[in-house]
Amino acid sequence: MKTHSALLPVLTLIISSFILAQGPPPADWRTPTEICEYRCTPRYEETLAYIRRVAAAAPKQVKIEPWGKTGEGRELVGVVVSKDGVFDPAAIHKADRPVVYIQNGIHPGEIEGKDASLALLRDMVVTKARANLLERAVVIIVPVYNIDGHERVSRYNRINQNGPEEMGWRAQSNNLNLNRDYLKADSVEARQFLAYFTKWLPDFFIDDHVTDGADYQYDVTYSIDFGPDVDPALAAWQRDELRPYIERSVTDSGHVIGLYVGVGEANPTKGLKMVQDEPRFSTGYMILQNRPGLLVEMHMLKDYKMRVLGNYELLRAILEKVNTDADKLLKMNRAVDAATIAAGKAYDPGRKMALRTAPSERSKPFHYLGYKRNQVLSEISGAVWNQYTREPENIDIPLYNDFQPTLTVAPPRAYIVPAQWVHVIEVLRAHGVQMQATTAAWESEVETYRCEPHWHNTLFEGRHPMSIGDFNADSSHYQPMCKAVKEKLSYPAGSMVVPLDQRAARVAVHWLEPDAPDSAVQWGFFDAIFEQKEYGEPYVLEPLAREMLAKDPVLKAEFEKKLVEDKAFAGNPDARLNFFYDHSPYYDSRIGLYPVGRLANLEGIPVK
Ligand SMILES: [Zn+2]
Repeated sequence: MKTHSALLPVLTLIISSFILAQGPPPADWRTPTEICEYRCTPRYEETLAYIRRVAAAAPKQVKIEPWGKTGEGRELVGVVVSKDGVFDPAAIHKADRPVVYIQNGIHPGEIEGKDASLALLRDMVVTKARANLLERAVVIIVPVYNIDGHERVSRYNRINQNGPEEMGWRAQSNNLNLNRDYLKADSVEARQFLAYFTKWLPDFFIDDHVTDGADYQYDVTYSIDFGPDVDPALAAWQRDELRPYIERSVTDSGHVIGLYVGVGEANPTKGLKMVQDEPRFSTGYMILQNRPGLLVEMHMLKDYKMRVLGNYELLRAILEKVNTDADKLLKMNRAVDAATIAAGKAYDPGRKMALRTAPSERSKPFHYLGYKRNQVLSEISGAVWNQYTREPENIDIPLYNDFQPTLTVAPPRAYIVPAQWVHVIEVLRAHGVQMQATTAAWESEVETYRCEPHWHNTLFEGRHPMSIGDFNADSSHYQPMCKAVKEKLSYPAGSMVVPLDQRAARVAVHWLEPDAPDSAVQWGFFDAIFEQKEYGEPYVLEPLAREMLAKDPVLKAEFEKKLVEDKAFAGNPDARLNFFYDHSPYYDSRIGLYPVGRLANLEGIPVK
């Protein structure tokens, strides 16, 4: 068809006056998940593209800060959001502005925190609808921590979860779960996180996840640790002030918020047993760093839109409270740091630090918003399974969250780690723990332990650890493996003295006390000390045994008693012969002797 050229000027005029009257269309600041109406979540590059666009629109408030590379070489970034363009941690701490660290995608299948964070970022600095959240606080958003896992995309990565259409994978590229790696720091990601964390030392830490486990009415769940291993003032603030505020505020926004009900709580009528996170978890690690941490667990079966919006409201509510209580929070964080340093200046054998805790039998009534369940006998499994309905069941049940220490230790004045245990020392260094190398060899009697190990018989996080269960490890039945002893030990030059009058003292205690839940011993860093390296040949041990039995009636009685009482021993010829090797001067007395020393004071230790 030909153009009616005579009409063109008229059309042009109409169009231009329309544009003049309306102005340019408003920029589209919808986040990628908003654009696809919460069916999808953006890949890492698309996520960064949106963040860069926001940063370009608000360069004074947003700084994209690279802090490392993943195993596969992708760039880890923190998005620092500050109202006035001050992005320097020292200047921010000095100006009494609390730093809030929001971590997303440690489990990349559980990804709504990322999409909620993008919306929050936009609302803080572009639409400014949430500019108030930056009044006092500086926010660091890590859009995705486990980026390599995030890019391992599939529709089938989260069997229990309702959307988005595709999502990332739980483990990083060495198949490690980063949320078990905080203290042992095996992964390159954890090592770099620790450096970034130490650089910023945030005042409040948030870790965004999605649940597995029971079905219930709550779409937003969370947990905070306030057991006996948490500073009492920080615990009280989290329990009595933060918790009521966020519960009320998130409820007012139209979501159903409740405490995180852990995996396996399929029968809530028996009550809810809460857990304190151990230091392999992000929030448990925060306890060692004297900082409050909050675990967000959005409910897996709620649709993605509800989860993104609920996650957003929880982040907003926490940030509101941190802004309101900024002075109080900073004062508490500084006080607990100062108290940690002061307590570390002298060895007080009467001072007890909790290493393991468990809920007591004391419970409180708790109003639980569940769903009715039909318990059905399955012809497939042969067991009873829960068929959830969507019919609300509001019941009063017991809540067990009165935590008591189940294992404590009196921290020494300092530890000394022999120079040759380089991997153990490297981990301390990664955590920013301050140490001093000895300048000469040193030998002395020190407090240490003799340990009888019992290894876990299954793999866990690429290791064969001791007594570590995967999740919600119940510390109430833990039997210590180690006995305190005093031994004369020698330390070569270059051994590391770790004084405990430092802010991160609790990290050192948890890493170096062998019965602590995530210690170097538990994770297998000291496995070699338990190996027997020399063995007696049977034709050598046979005459030796006869000689020993003839000379030593006490030993003879012990041997005979063991033959009667220990059937496994009696039936094992090698063990029977080894009994004599073990009682002979040939036996290696260092087997099971922990080489790290606990020092009561620093006198005479050769350090500069
Ligand atoms: Zn998770």
